[in-house]
Amino acid sequence: MPHRVALVTGGSRGIGAAIAERLAADGADVVVTYARSAERAAAVVRRVEATGRRGLALEAAATDAAQLVAAVDRTVTAFGRLDVLVNNAGIAPFGPLEQVTLEEVDTTMAVHARAAFVLAQAAARHMGSGGRIISIGSSLAERVPYPGWTLYAMSKSALIGLTKGLARDLGPRGITVNLVHPGSTDTEMNPADSPEAEQERAYTALGRYCDPRDIAATVAHLAGEGGRNITGAAVTVDAGTTA
Ligand code: NDP
Repeated sequence: MPHRVALVTGGSRGIGAAIAERLAADGADVVVTYARSAERAAAVVRRVEATGRRGLALEAAATDAAQLVAAVDRTVTAFGRLDVLVNNAGIAPFGPLEQVTLEEVDTTMAVHARAAFVLAQAAARHMGSGGRIISIGSSLAERVPYPGWTLYAMSKSALIGLTKGLARDLGPRGITVNLVHPGSTDTEMNPADSPEAEQERAYTALGRYCDPRDIAATVAHLAGEGGRNITGAAVTVDAGTTA
């Protein structure tokens, strides 16, 4: 595949960092965005550069549409093109239904759904045939096996409609649009050694957490030549939680 440029939101740590490093290993120049972790984003850029590719870290709060559009434009200014957008940045609001505030609803919908829409719209202006838009959803968009996750599940399931609609809008231009639903994955958001982890592990068919690199491998497949005829699809990587 010819030289590619990827933009990964929330690439400072966890799943986003693993995706950035994998895409770089596969030959892409990679821009990562972050909200607060400037140092850690810079460390990811150094690891990208260690593969021989170019890297860049940009601050872009997912709640700030202007910053998101600017991140897309700065990617194209810096590296000349944009081929792969990965909507990964996310938060994990959790708790009793009666305690969820309207502010939390608005923030969560903005970070997961509105940001993905804004970024896809901006990225599509620059993408040519072979472009890829991949969003990171959640197995909780498909099945919700525990209480306390209504808002999170609602916000992630919005990505299903986004993905299917964009696949139709952008298919005629040769751009594919897909969704990856991780299950329990060992990151700071969901550590595999937390008190809750044992219950999550028990819900899987394989009896284990995913590693961020498992999610990155599926993103890499969708982003690469092997993904050329996959669009409007959701791939679940959850060690069988939703089996
Ligand atoms: P982490 O908490 O480890 O990392 C979250 C990333 O998102 C960080 O890079 C963070 O940046 C960024 N981020 C958070 N809030 C914002 C914001 N408002 N604006 C911009 N960036 C932001 O999470 P994971 O790596 O575990 O999660 C990555 C994605 O995978 C999320 O969308 C999550 O919902 C999803 N997912 C995770 C699962 C899991 O079990 N871990 C399961 C299913 C889905 P910074 O470092 O600057 O704060």
